[in-house]
Amino acid sequence: MNEFQSTPPPVLRVESLSKTYEGALAVDALSFDVRPGEILGLVGPNGAGKTTTLRSIVGILPVKQGRVLVCGYDVMLHEAEAKRCLYWVPDDPQPFDALTVWEHLEFTAALYDVRDWKERAEELLQRFELVEKRDALGGELSRGMRQKLAFACGWLTRPRLVLLDEPLTGLDPRGIRSAKRAIAEVAAEGSSVILSSHLLEMIEELASRILILDRGHKVFDGTLAEARSSIAGVEGGSLEEIFLKVTDGSLPAGRTSMQGGAPSGAPGRARPEGGDWSGGGAGSP
Ligand code: ATP
Repeated sequence: MNEFQSTPPPVLRVESLSKTYEGALAVDALSFDVRPGEILGLVGPNGAGKTTTLRSIVGILPVKQGRVLVCGYDVMLHEAEAKRCLYWVPDDPQPFDALTVWEHLEFTAALYDVRDWKERAEELLQRFELVEKRDALGGELSRGMRQKLAFACGWLTRPRLVLLDEPLTGLDPRGIRSAKRAIAEVAAEGSSVILSSHLLEMIEELASRILILDRGHKVFDGTLAEARSSIAGVEGGSLEEIFLKVTDGSLPAGRTSMQGGAPSGAPGRARPEGGDWSGGGAGSP
């Protein structure tokens, strides 16, 4: 086996992705890979471009500059195949008003062709403390319950790539513990996870690699150990110290980025009306 055969292909490849809003650059020539079983912590100050990047990956924003490959599929050319590989949990999931919790699971199973889904759906209701809400309508759920339902639907599909935007917001302490455990377990089973959050302790606890963005630029991509050994002044420091160091507001925009700790060069099915549910679903928005 040669060195190329020994490295599994990335589940996600982002190549020179750029995005502008009315002429203002939000993401600038961003490139990174995510490999199977990896939990990538995506962090950056407000306005750094995290959500724009996630929304481009899941197909909510069209990729006009650069390329995004999910499970080898270009999201612009093979949208349905790419979406079938991933699941997106937005920071404030909006379930369909007219569907119950159980019907969301049923709908998700149909969308992703999940066979024999009922037993797993029952387990997920237990796991995310939704048993009592099984017959509640989407519009009747609290924010934390909507978050839990999004997790349950996502986990039902056993996605190869899960994208989570501030996944703990709104969860109660037991929900936080379940969610953190679920994230670690899904990665241990081989799924890749992108975890975007300002909760740096959670990122430090769960992420195997960290990507730090600042004003649309990649300023660090590597492990915590690499950050500690390569960035002057943060030896042995926390992710918070690293974050504050590499996103120092006095640095000019467009400065040299760092990678791996070292400076570097630079299926469409009908869906019910009324919801803004997972953006990554096969055929969902
Ligand atoms: P936060 O941590 O605050 O959620 P973020 O890292 O997710 O921030 P984005 O939401 O991706 O950042 O925003 C990146 C840049 O793009 C910001 O300057 C923001 O003002 C701008 N932006 C985002 N969405 C829009 C939009 N719909 N129209 C115009 N500008 C936008």
